[in-house]
Amino acid sequence: MQLLEERIRKDGKVLPGDVLKVNSFLNHQLDAELLDAVGAEIAGLFKDCGVTKVLTAEASGIAIACFVALHLHCPALFAKKSKTSNIGSGVWSAKAHSYTHGNDYTMIVSKEYLSGEDTVLIVDDFLANGSALRALRDLCTEAGAKVAGAGIAIEKTYQGGGDELRAEGLRIESMARIASMDAEDGIRFC
Ligand code: 5GP
Repeated sequence: MQLLEERIRKDGKVLPGDVLKVNSFLNHQLDAELLDAVGAEIAGLFKDCGVTKVLTAEASGIAIACFVALHLHCPALFAKKSKTSNIGSGVWSAKAHSYTHGNDYTMIVSKEYLSGEDTVLIVDDFLANGSALRALRDLCTEAGAKVAGAGIAIEKTYQGGGDELRAEGLRIESMARIASMDAEDGIRFC
């Protein structure tokens, strides 16, 4: 998506540890017009899939998930992150590893809001090694929900998570696909 790629080129900052900082429009301050356009694009790609719920992880996926849900006319649901795996019976849970914080955590969603009746579109801001997306997919599997696919704002393709999950049969649509990035040479899109 050209609009998003241009914005990443203009305002994205490549940090050590393969982290792209996009705090000026996606991860801290939010550019609602840009996110609305990204949300509309993702929603358009999945409009015929019978999506009943958009699922993301707190906190950085929430903004983009809301805009996708707005265009699909369904609720957005975010998995909460719990440091303990000692959780109650009223939730679906899946383990994940945090790319940015380096720790393991458990994602949980109340059984009240996700069930075998649902067809889910998973949405997230970034796809790197795929741990977050895998955990969100596992939550759906645990709940017996159907997964229509995943809509991602920014995929760092060279980190391989996307390819692995696609090979497992998950449909993934990424709005900006980064082939490589470093502080000196900048960002190269696929
Ligand atoms: P994965 O689980 O695929 O390795 O990483 C995806 C998650 O880590 C996303 O939910 C996102 O919050 C975070 N993340 C991964 N790479 C980046 C990055 O380059 N920049 C930012 N801001 N977040 C990232």
